[in-house]
Amino acid sequence: MLHSNLSVNNAGHLVIGSSDVVELAIKYGTPLYIVDEDRIRENCRKYKDAIAKFLAPGSAVLYAGKALCYTGVYKIMVQEGLCADIVSAGELYTALRAGFPAEKMYFHGNSKPDDEIEYAIDVGVGHFVVDSLEELEKIDQYAGRKKTKQKIFLRLTPDIDTHTHRKISTGVLDCKFGTPIVTGQAEELVRTTLQKKNILLDGLHCHVGSQIFSEEPYLQCAEVMVDFIADIYRKIGWLPAYLDMGGGFGVRYTENDPEVNYEKMIENIGATLSALCSDRGIPIPALLLEPGRSIVGDAGITVYRVTGVKEIPHCNNYVAIDGGMTDNPRYTLYGAKYTMLLANKAKKIADYKCAVAGRCCESGDLLGEDVAIQHPVKGDLLAVLTTGAYNYSMASNYNRIPRPAMVAVCGGEDHLAVRRESYEDLLAMDTL
Ligand SMILES: *Cc1c(COP(=O)(O)O)cnc(C)c1O
Repeated sequence: MLHSNLSVNNAGHLVIGSSDVVELAIKYGTPLYIVDEDRIRENCRKYKDAIAKFLAPGSAVLYAGKALCYTGVYKIMVQEGLCADIVSAGELYTALRAGFPAEKMYFHGNSKPDDEIEYAIDVGVGHFVVDSLEELEKIDQYAGRKKTKQKIFLRLTPDIDTHTHRKISTGVLDCKFGTPIVTGQAEELVRTTLQKKNILLDGLHCHVGSQIFSEEPYLQCAEVMVDFIADIYRKIGWLPAYLDMGGGFGVRYTENDPEVNYEKMIENIGATLSALCSDRGIPIPALLLEPGRSIVGDAGITVYRVTGVKEIPHCNNYVAIDGGMTDNPRYTLYGAKYTMLLANKAKKIADYKCAVAGRCCESGDLLGEDVAIQHPVKGDLLAVLTTGAYNYSMASNYNRIPRPAMVAVCGGEDHLAVRRESYEDLLAMDTL
């Protein structure tokens, strides 16, 4: 199977961890997100072990919660000892309520509203990753009012093209994120920051993109950042204790995607960083990494009930399901490819070519085209693999469709992690 936590049992049913997917679908209903929490922990440990082995002291892993955000996932992160990358006060609140320490959170985002900045300072967020002069000034002013000194990183754009999809490429010059180095604006922002009384600048941040399979962009990025650090150090004597190189490690969605050896990538990034630093004569900063997708992506699958099959001569076969772009917008957004199969016929041959159609009133609401699955009939269970990241966290209520439940499996046990939305939930915010 695509991932080592997936298998097929004697009944011909898909199994995730040690749990029968057909039984879970019957017990909890469909559509259903299933998340293998053992797999999440395994992925966390891969990162932690590699960082301890190959990187300078103080280096750390930040889980990027935007990939999959629910209370339970932050409880895992507390137990596994990771830090957290949060992008909104909503994510911050979720993490706090799960018992995640504010001190270990890094508040990201290119457009933080003033009230969210104040809230984060009030609860003692560890770091802000500052994206603009306006944000810097707001933090300085509010930290002053609260008589604290706020730790921050500055987000810079290294101008690296990752050749990933434009909508998930974030390190190029012409981009809404960060402050460019080549234009001189980054240097100016560092100088301005160092004059702020209520701010402690102790790191620099960059993030080149997402779903990246080669270490090349990270190595290029390390070179740009180290050159910048060495240049600033020569000019004004300031050195960052931390270099945060963001997330973006790729995961396998189909057999065509390579298997990524994260340990090897981290080893190479660490070695390159040390070599660059010693060559430029600066101390090696502690390195932070912010994986999201590669922590939770392969831990999740989604199961749908087939509602019908429409075969149009000389055109597509459409297999309709009871979910779609509301629970997984990634195909509609950027043509993301997935591996799919019928969970109740997993041993049968997958030779039925089709498009998988969601239930929304949009012809673009598809989960895939040119997909090969087992021969489907109404009532079958379609499993979409590798949906742990950017599915539940991107879900919507378009067409007033309630968001699915999410069940967590671990060691053959299962429990509800997020309950299914009810019709009442859909009206909860309406004032009648
Ligand atoms: C999206 C994002 C991440 C996580 O990216 P993945 O591809 O899920 O690993 C990390 N850091 C920042 C700043 C991001 O925007």
